[in-house]
Amino acid sequence: MSSNFHPDGTLFIVSGPSGAGKTTLINKVRRQLKRLGIYLYFSVSHTTRKARFGEKEGRAYYFVTPERFEQMAQAREFIEHAWVHDQRYGTSKEEVLARLNRGEDVIVDIDYQGARQIADHPDLRPRSLNIFIFPPSFEHLEQRLRDRGLNTEAEIQTRLQKAIDEIDAGKEFYEYVIINDDLRAAAECLKAAIIAKKLQTKTALEAISSMAERLKEERDGRSARRRG
Ligand code: ADP
Ligand code: 5GP
Repeated sequence: MSSNFHPDGTLFIVSGPSGAGKTTLINKVRRQLKRLGIYLYFSVSHTTRKARFGEKEGRAYYFVTPERFEQMAQAREFIEHAWVHDQRYGTSKEEVLARLNRGEDVIVDIDYQGARQIADHPDLRPRSLNIFIFPPSFEHLEQRLRDRGLNTEAEIQTRLQKAIDEIDAGKEFYEYVIINDDLRAAAECLKAAIIAKKLQTKTALEAISSMAERLKEERDGRSARRRG
């Protein structure tokens, strides 16, 4: 366990084409970072798409009706929301803002439209890091989508088209780009990006300063006792 890391309300935004390996990488890296003392809460999005076989309510998503989603959007309950592959997806304030404000670190898996909305958010931008995950080639992407076995042929084609749009749209605001070729290497890269951001944040400095304060007080106390 390292004393380098302290929860300080940092938001990690992972995006990239469907099938690039975001879910696989996030799960792997969250487990590994935990051993270093970095706990990342995975934000559960709301979606209007139907649950796939084996998907449990509240684990990968909160599954809601289009009416409920619209109600939440009108009530400004989302920090971002977008249409993705003909369905609506959104990140609720409750999942993310409430936790960041309590000082927890959070990771989200959202598409580039959502990442851009967060990048434009004046309060969230300074405390967040944008990471773009990409496959080594479009052929790999297509193969992974097929092998995953979750999507129809038409859905695979929509996802490939969207992947092309995503590269252009994300160019201006992604801070790190990771090619998910070898899974272990990509996981190391994602960990490195997260660790680098955590080392930048102010909390570590505050911890060191309060350590110095305590030492100073102890010394002052000792010399006062010697004099007295
Ligand atoms: P996303 O969450 O980005 O849609 P997934 O994590 O579901 O993508 O990954 C898509 C498929 O590709 C899954 O079947 C996963 O096991 C596989 N996969 C992920 N990373 C790699 C990799 N580096 N090499 C080979 N296959 C991978
Ligand atoms: P799937 O339905 O295949 O799990 O996810 C489809 C896409 O929706 C993925 O690219 C994922 O990143 C994106 N997505 C998931 N949740 C959200 C969200 O809350 N907001 C946005 N903008 N995109 C999301």
